[in-house]
Amino acid sequence: METQFEYEEEYRDSISTVDEEGKRVWIYPKKPKGAFHKKRVIVTALLLSLLFLGPFLKVGGQPLLLLNFFERKFIILGLPFWPQDFFLLALLLVTLFVFIILFTVAFGRVWCGWACPQTLFMEMVFRKIEYWIEGDANQQRKLNDAPWTREKIFKKISKQTIFLLISLLISHTVMAYLIGVEEVVKVVTQYPTEHLSGFVGLMFFTGIFYWVFAFFREQACVTVCPYGRLQGVLLVKDSIAVMYDWVRGEPRERIKKGITSNEAGACIDCKLCVHVCPTGIDIRNGTQLECVNCTACMDVCDDVMTKVGRPKGLIRYASYNSVKDGISRLFTTRIAGYILVLIALVTFLSYMLVSREEIEVTILKAPGQVYEKLEDGRITNLYNIEFVNKTFNHKSLIIKTVGVNDAETEKIGKSTIQLGPNEKSEGTFIIKIPRKELKGRTMNIEIGLFDQDEKLIDTYQTKFTGPSKFEIL
Ligand code: SF4
Ligand code: SF4
Repeated sequence: METQFEYEEEYRDSISTVDEEGKRVWIYPKKPKGAFHKKRVIVTALLLSLLFLGPFLKVGGQPLLLLNFFERKFIILGLPFWPQDFFLLALLLVTLFVFIILFTVAFGRVWCGWACPQTLFMEMVFRKIEYWIEGDANQQRKLNDAPWTREKIFKKISKQTIFLLISLLISHTVMAYLIGVEEVVKVVTQYPTEHLSGFVGLMFFTGIFYWVFAFFREQACVTVCPYGRLQGVLLVKDSIAVMYDWVRGEPRERIKKGITSNEAGACIDCKLCVHVCPTGIDIRNGTQLECVNCTACMDVCDDVMTKVGRPKGLIRYASYNSVKDGISRLFTTRIAGYILVLIALVTFLSYMLVSREEIEVTILKAPGQVYEKLEDGRITNLYNIEFVNKTFNHKSLIIKTVGVNDAETEKIGKSTIQLGPNEKSEGTFIIKIPRKELKGRTMNIEIGLFDQDEKLIDTYQTKFTGPSKFEIL
């Protein structure tokens, strides 16, 4: 096995969860305990409470977060967003992406260990239930190898039933973020045939979560998660990560009869850091793609160091450079650059949010229609119009052509547009302009949007087409 001395030359051609024949190696991590684990339990309790309570939280009577991709309605922090706000959502995603890069360059995969729902559910919920029912790593291994006795059947059925129930709970929560709590309540309380798509969605998510947490497990982080795959390009040698102090630890040497040689490093090669790792890696080989920063190896090694009377922190949060040279550089030029870009993006995003129109109007000429001439000599153009109410208030609106003498704007159907809260409406209208007012074959005109008190809200540009001067009317 290579050591940290060959860190920079180290390459890896296999992952610890797949054997030489390409078969899955099932990981039985030892039960973690220690100071970091206790802190993670508290953070997990807070974050999971927030996750489960989230769909019930309201801002101004609206959900805190609703991502209804099916009806293309989105509510973020109580503000409604429509596909028409795609630019804002794209900007928000870019801002988040830069934030993630900045955070990762500075603090490595802290997100994975402390906040990612996959790790929290896997290590803090499902794994704990497994320890509770089947015992620690060795007992689980023995149980799996044992013949199917009554006790084994009971334990396995109990565990899988609880896993399934928790998966159901998670899928209901996810659906509540997608279609809203009220809709989920309807799906649950009424016949499946009345909400077939909602029911299928719930079953689908339950199946996925159950499969991921009962069987797929760490493979989600190691082989699927795009964030995990990005670590190779995001981490730099000044990034903080769970790091083995090879300067202090090597050469590793087992304690024989209570002593080690004079040349021995601090690592006593007990391999407990490997046995406790939920992704099955040896952190002493250096920072690896599989490490989700769960801190289990830090806790167990601190415990070992305490027992052998050596200072804690042989595995700790540190940067590669801080271990190698003893110098920590958190604020580097690269970090400063990312911070500046992030500030610029946040400022621009805030401005765009504050100046966002409450009513979005899209006016398009009706396809296939150029113009028509009325008996009184006026020229008419037909338009399609779409209104999106991006507020939670009812709106009564009127449209009129402005700035053209004797122009008449006739809405087909009701003349006043009634728009419900967070609602979209479409319609058609005709603009009639006297021939003498036309300035060329095509001219720019302005459509005004007024409220019910005839107060101008906004104006929109469009084109009006008439006959050319050569055309006989
Ligand atoms: S737990 Fe600590 S002492 Fe034991 S093998 Fe790992 S690094 Fe070495
Ligand atoms: S190497 Fe340590 S921190 Fe990383 S996943 Fe394994 S136990 Fe967790």
